[in-house]
Amino acid sequence: MAPFQSAARTLLTLAFWTPTIDAQEMNRNRVRYELTRATVLFTAGSFSPEEMGRFALLADRGVADIDTLLNHPGPGPTLGPPITFVVRDRLSISRTVRRTILLPADRVRRDAAPYLHEATHILVPMNQECLWLSEGFASYVQSYVAENIGGYDGYVFSWGGNRNIDRLARRTLNSDHGRTALPYVGAFDEPPDLFEKRREVAQPLYILAHSLVKFMVDRTSLEKVTTLVQSSDIAGSAERLTGKTIDAWKALWLNMVNQPRAEVAATQKRDGSDPDGPAW
Ligand SMILES: [Zn+2]
Repeated sequence: MAPFQSAARTLLTLAFWTPTIDAQEMNRNRVRYELTRATVLFTAGSFSPEEMGRFALLADRGVADIDTLLNHPGPGPTLGPPITFVVRDRLSISRTVRRTILLPADRVRRDAAPYLHEATHILVPMNQECLWLSEGFASYVQSYVAENIGGYDGYVFSWGGNRNIDRLARRTLNSDHGRTALPYVGAFDEPPDLFEKRREVAQPLYILAHSLVKFMVDRTSLEKVTTLVQSSDIAGSAERLTGKTIDAWKALWLNMVNQPRAEVAATQKRDGSDPDGPAW
């Protein structure tokens, strides 16, 4: 083969080559991948070997990226125990139980699984239950990692990631569901029907919480907000860790969200994307 043909073929191969790996176990029922930071299980026959190998690598890298970003920013060993991902059909929403993440197969199939969001819940465990901070933080980290490090943003509610979240928050606050969700943002109680009414109750709360967490990170640091998330007295330590109480942060954030800035709209127009795209 002439040298230029060989080079062209190599380039073509590289352009369509997707990293993948082989499974460690395959039987009639399941396929299991064992990587350094992730164990990934699929139902046998539900995906091609390439699809499974590709997602297993993504999950493994995602765990390592989040852990390095939030827990081990300096040099030194970054290894923690692996997280188990179970990809399953007929699962309506993603769930995390201890160190196991259950992901709906249809979301994995279309690169829409919130694997980074769920991994964040495990890698940065909370010592005090606080729904808005937990979900806002996991949503922020998912978008941050996908936008700056690698992997994809499995949008569930925060369509458009960190670049679009303030716009989504503004739109949400102008809706009845958004106004109903607002008192739960910055507070410790949870709204009723959170799991039954995902669009009406969970979606506005997650969007507003994501926007408030981004506001706090932008004005302090990811490190400080990560420390706050793990505090056993979130309300009491917010001022010491971030310089302001949660109520003060919320008031400043609301002021920002309620004042649309021309440059935000202009940026989104240049993207050519639909910033109001599907939430699911
Ligand atoms: Zn979550």
